Amino acid sequence: MGALDFAFNASPEVLDYLGRFESMAYLGAAILFILALAGLSKQKTAQRGNKFGIAGMAFALVATIILVVGKDDRGAVLTLVLIAAAILVGALFGIHKARSVQMTEMPQLVAMLHSFVGAAAVLVGFESFFTEPGIAGVNGFHMGEVGLAVFIGAVTFTGSIIAYLKLSAKISGKPLTLPGRNIMNLCAVIVSILLIAWLVNTNGVEEGLVPLVILTVISLVLGLHLVAAIGGGDMPVVVSMLNSYSGWAAAMAGFTLNNDLLIIAGALVGSSGAYLSYIMCKGMNRSFISVILGGFGSDTSGASSETYEHGAHVETTAQRVAEILLDSKKVVITPGFGMAVAQAQFPVADLTRKLTDRGIDVKFGIHPVAGRMPGHMNVLLAEAKVPYDKVFELDEINDDFGDVDTVLVIGANDTVNPSAETDPGSPIAGMPVLRVWEAKKVIVFKRSMGNAGYSGVQNPLFFNENTRMLLGDAKKSVDDIISYL
Ligand code: NDP
Repeated sequence: MGALDFAFNASPEVLDYLGRFESMAYLGAAILFILALAGLSKQKTAQRGNKFGIAGMAFALVATIILVVGKDDRGAVLTLVLIAAAILVGALFGIHKARSVQMTEMPQLVAMLHSFVGAAAVLVGFESFFTEPGIAGVNGFHMGEVGLAVFIGAVTFTGSIIAYLKLSAKISGKPLTLPGRNIMNLCAVIVSILLIAWLVNTNGVEEGLVPLVILTVISLVLGLHLVAAIGGGDMPVVVSMLNSYSGWAAAMAGFTLNNDLLIIAGALVGSSGAYLSYIMCKGMNRSFISVILGGFGSDTSGASSETYEHGAHVETTAQRVAEILLDSKKVVITPGFGMAVAQAQFPVADLTRKLTDRGIDVKFGIHPVAGRMPGHMNVLLAEAKVPYDKVFELDEINDDFGDVDTVLVIGANDTVNPSAETDPGSPIAGMPVLRVWEAKKVIVFKRSMGNAGYSGVQNPLFFNENTRMLLGDAKKSVDDIISYL
């Protein structure tokens, strides 16, 4: 295969050298990944964190290619061609997706990417099983790793596909509530554990294939059923939970491949995803267990929205809002999903600059689950170059609304719904909300009075005495206000 067809693995010295290189390269990449996570935890350092992540991944990729080529006895050229082909297909797909995806479609894209990690873990598990099948009493531990990789990978794979279909509204977001669903899930988990135990004690491919295939089928069905049972209101938690599962699936694949870096990176993703799920559950006042058990959201059109009695809403105009803003000293903007839909972040940033130039104090109040993915609003505001020091989280700003002259609720609904605090029967009861109604004046930007928020619950805020509704597309409304200013 030509001059490039060298075989590193011929010499033990080279193998020893490669082993050392592997440890150092993986350690370096792991440190970069940890620095990336640390950076991503704060908006100010997020860009730097992202660069660390890119550098870590590039480093890991190059090191892995060198190692694979060096250790592969089929020859360097063939291996390089195979790797290049895989990278090319992945890169073309990735670039196309990154360019075409709308910000509002990010959650479903993330869900789809998680399904790839799950599928990869299953494939790695099978590959490892066929190349190193179980030999009773010798490599049972390895078969345990294979079983776990296939189990977690398959649950992640089908669970993520269902999450993708629900988030992109290709199937109904309503939970599938089969009778005895929790018992069925529990049985599936118990049978899977027993199958892994069987796999550990098998001898050879023929014996091991039976439990492995049954395990794969049960895990695929389990993932499908687990997520199908979860309603739309809990989807954000499900996405971050699947993020966590995909991390553990990658870590398990790392065990089967004997790849330390994959174990570390998988564990980082797995634990940070689990922590994110915890934060989101807190943000929505849901217990993690009840999210996993599913069923919430079956009645999201909500008893409250049917029975809630309210007065008439009062509409306003862009010109009047411009006057109100010029009379204000303190303004807080609470954006929500509607700002993302309208792509209003750029005029909102412009409005902020114009008001700040006139000496008006403008801040942003960000709810942890505003929009459709964690950090959705922060990303949009950063994109529009809103200074980080103007952006406050719910806990940092919620006690200050009493001192605020005007709140602009731009396309937010559930996250500013007072019934979460006042109506114990509401589907969002107990969810922490931004207490915007405590401000002197509240302006709500919304297209029509007909639509409710994501949870389908009516919002009494719209009918408060100090609330004015500015109906229309948020981008156009903000543009109009700017023109009057
Ligand atoms: P909501 O989804 O509750 O409400 C969106 C509001 O924006 C509606 O009032 C809608 O009214 C309005 N809107 C939509 N398009 C426009 C537009 N072009 N111009 C003006 N207004 C518009 O938003 P929130 O951000 O307050 O709440 C997020 C909800 O999503 C929560 O229930 C959360 O649990 C859930 N969720 C959050 C995820 C996350 O991770 N952040 C992920 C998935 C769900 P109208 O249609 O009349 O214009």
